[in-house]
Amino acid sequence: MKILVVVDMQNDFIDGSLGTKEAKSILPFVKDKIEVFQKNKDQVIYTKDTHYENYLETPEGLKLPVKHCIKNTSGWEIPSSILLPNAKVFEKETFGSVHLIEYLKTQEFDELHFVGLCTDICVVSNVLLAKATFPTKRIVVDSKCCAGVTPKSHEEALNTMRMCQIDIL
Ligand SMILES: [Zn+2]
Repeated sequence: MKILVVVDMQNDFIDGSLGTKEAKSILPFVKDKIEVFQKNKDQVIYTKDTHYENYLETPEGLKLPVKHCIKNTSGWEIPSSILLPNAKVFEKETFGSVHLIEYLKTQEFDELHFVGLCTDICVVSNVLLAKATFPTKRIVVDSKCCAGVTPKSHEEALNTMRMCQIDIL
């Protein structure tokens, strides 16, 4: 049994306030990956970066003063083309999600796969949390289904994860 975690595939990170052409270009690959998991009856879960109107005054906002993923705005939403109905969605107010990890502890799985945005912030944060929590499980990152803030920081994050014995596809 495998679990796929789709990290922060939200409009603001794809083509909104923090969008990039690389993020847009991974959409079809993420869609295919989700369909494979769905067909095999493996679980797909999602995370959503979630901020509020006071974002610019938060610690994250002071370092990155670009409003994004404000709850209930269109930029906060995951495109319907890649959002499975009835899937579990974890809202998170920072990069790594402790709630996601707590939930994963209650699930049976042999492999944990990660895709999404951004490779160098929220993907790497959750992957390394998972690696520390589940040292005996295979943890996989599908690089063609991830994009970073820049192509360079994407590659650097993949390398960091590779060095931490994550399987990078
Ligand atoms: Zn954020």
